[in-house]
Amino acid sequence: MKRKKPADAPWVRPLLRWFERDREEFPWRREPRDPYVVWVAEVMLQQTQVAAAVPYLERWLRHFPTVARLARADADRVLKAWEGLGYYSRARNLLKAARTIVRDCGGVLPRTVEGLRALPGIGDYSARSIAALAYGTPVLGVDGNIRRVGARLYALPSLGDREARDRLEPLMPAGRAGPFTEALMELGRRVCKPRGPLCGACPVRRWCAALSAGDPQAYPAGAPKARPRRERKAALVRVRGGRVGLVKRGEGERLGGLWGFPLLGRVPRGGKRLDPIIHAYSGFTLTAVPVVVAEGGEAYEGERFVTPGEALDLPLSVLDRKVMEKVAKELGAGNAPRRK
Ligand code: SF4
Repeated sequence: MKRKKPADAPWVRPLLRWFERDREEFPWRREPRDPYVVWVAEVMLQQTQVAAAVPYLERWLRHFPTVARLARADADRVLKAWEGLGYYSRARNLLKAARTIVRDCGGVLPRTVEGLRALPGIGDYSARSIAALAYGTPVLGVDGNIRRVGARLYALPSLGDREARDRLEPLMPAGRAGPFTEALMELGRRVCKPRGPLCGACPVRRWCAALSAGDPQAYPAGAPKARPRRERKAALVRVRGGRVGLVKRGEGERLGGLWGFPLLGRVPRGGKRLDPIIHAYSGFTLTAVPVVVAEGGEAYEGERFVTPGEALDLPLSVLDRKVMEKVAKELGAGNAPRRK
């Protein structure tokens, strides 16, 4: 990478000064940086907003304070600690990667993009961000915030990952990969917001081409969003003596590895229907209609009958947890169905 001089981008130093003065403190920014914490935070931040990620990360670190402790954990505990974040394959990949790190890398997260990319669940963006933030490796991971800031600074109608990297990575001052990356991300999150950028408070406004052009929000030109797909399923609630039947979903399935109610493509006849639960996943919305039936007929493979209280100790998805809350109320009200 050909590095440029600060004169090529006079906005870089004011941006870094602003970041040093105003930056928010988060567990993953504690010095000295712990590459393991940076990695877990990076994966969580793909699922949730910065403020929401903090309690999840703290809970995770209480369970698995080091990569070695994570590597020794069993999958159910890991999924349980991830509960509420969605995309459980990310948690399974954290576990697989921790085991690889302990087995093949002496328990230390790799420092290079290539080494990180070789681990399960770490793509190019994450590998670059982790390498820069944890080790100061001079590479830039481009996220949506960085794309937007770059597009506005240079008044570009669109800016892809590759182009953003080609433009911005050479401007990274030597030895400042982490702060440069975090400053751009934080500027995008707190100041150069998608709607209503706070240009008056922006440390780089003197050099911003979009602001000079008069309408910063017009950059980058908004891409129309696809409408989320809708799915409707029945959540089958089989009841036996105050307990409900749960199944463990297979690894290859959606919500794989988690316990939950069997989801059926059709709402079955009979049974008692409870109010539907609507849950948004990325790219689609699922409406689940809980149908409470007395247990009978074929058992599901691996089905386990538990009380609602016991179910809380199992890793459940947010959707199944909501269904369970409704079912607990239903059973508590003495409305359990009788077997005919
Ligand atoms: S001046 Fe406004 S549009 Fe330009 S980078 Fe700053 S906040 Fe974004």
